[in-house]
Amino acid sequence: NRQVVLKNSVTGFPKESDFEVTTSTICLKLPEGSKKGVLVKNLYLSCDPYMRVLMTNAHLYFPIDFYTPPQVLYGYGVGRVLESGDPKLKEGDFVWGITGWEEYSVIEDPQKLFKINHRHDVPLSYYTGILGMTGVTAYFGFYEVCCPKEGEYVFVSAASGAVGQLVGQFAKSLGCYVVGTAGTQQKIDLLKNKLGFDDAFNYKEESDLNSALKRYFPKGIDIYFENVGGKMLDAVLVNMREHGRIAVCGMISQYNLEKPEGVHNLLNIVLQRIRVQGFEVFDYYHRYSEFLDAVLPLIQARKLAYVEDMAEGLDAGPAALIGLFSGHNVGKQVVAVAPQ
Ligand code: NDP
Repeated sequence: NRQVVLKNSVTGFPKESDFEVTTSTICLKLPEGSKKGVLVKNLYLSCDPYMRVLMTNAHLYFPIDFYTPPQVLYGYGVGRVLESGDPKLKEGDFVWGITGWEEYSVIEDPQKLFKINHRHDVPLSYYTGILGMTGVTAYFGFYEVCCPKEGEYVFVSAASGAVGQLVGQFAKSLGCYVVGTAGTQQKIDLLKNKLGFDDAFNYKEESDLNSALKRYFPKGIDIYFENVGGKMLDAVLVNMREHGRIAVCGMISQYNLEKPEGVHNLLNIVLQRIRVQGFEVFDYYHRYSEFLDAVLPLIQARKLAYVEDMAEGLDAGPAALIGLFSGHNVGKQVVAVAPQ
């Protein structure tokens, strides 16, 4: 069983040397006594920014389970059931949920897995993203947390990524004016030409983010879908309209810092009566079937575009994961582990 192991707690930007791909022996049967567990063959693994937060056990005030290195990495993935002690799952079923970064995993608590009703017009890898955790994040983050209205001005950061590309398209379908930001010209072209954003700019080429935002939103921003934090948040705060909403999904610019950057313009929350709300995707998993009923037909009707970046093989996993923090990925970063 080939496995990606996190060797040590991480400081600063993660490096490939923080990981190692090792081989352990595995009996391809559920262990004796694992009455409810399932044995899965992992097919696709999802690279997600939150995984970096779990790699540094310094933030003891975060109520989350950190990795305890040396440890096989875990995260979201798609797999095929080889053996099941759970009556709801049988051999051959496809599932998505938390699994190991390895070829085969025993999942002791399959209640947390989502069974995939696999149809052949939608790739299975989509359940690592648009039909999985990131899709649910974008859908409820936008429709519920942002409380959007037709015609509003929407700004999305990390806009070409897994979550951002979907948020922008949901906002467009509601008749909003949508601008995204990303870190390369290739991503800007993607936002404008494939993902239907009204406009987009490269934040790395702007010396003054405040005036860039004024250029793209002369009347101000109603909704900011926050994926990056730091300087971008500060610049957005002084460009928000009255009663604007900021949905705080994540702050990737802060995950590798030992000390988070200060945000200076918080008083604008008061002056402009802005509602700032953080949210966690888990809060919406009980509404997964509602999400699927809404989003799957859009994919099938090709009304929703989706960009994936596929790395091949477990050995490519560490580089793919750390690439998120330098913007190496174009779209949702996935690792293909094995053929179906
Ligand atoms: P992406 O697919 O967008 O990948 C990360 C992207 O972030 C990179 O490609 C890069 O793009 C950008 N980025 C990296 N470092 C920086 C930086 N210092 N400043 C600005 N941009 C940077 O990731 P996801 O769509 O999966 O995640 C987006 C956000 O959503 C993250 O903050 C994540 O933690 C959060 N999230 C929150 C969830 C929740 O439940 N609240 C659930 C899922 C995700 P570029 O080239 O544009 O710089």
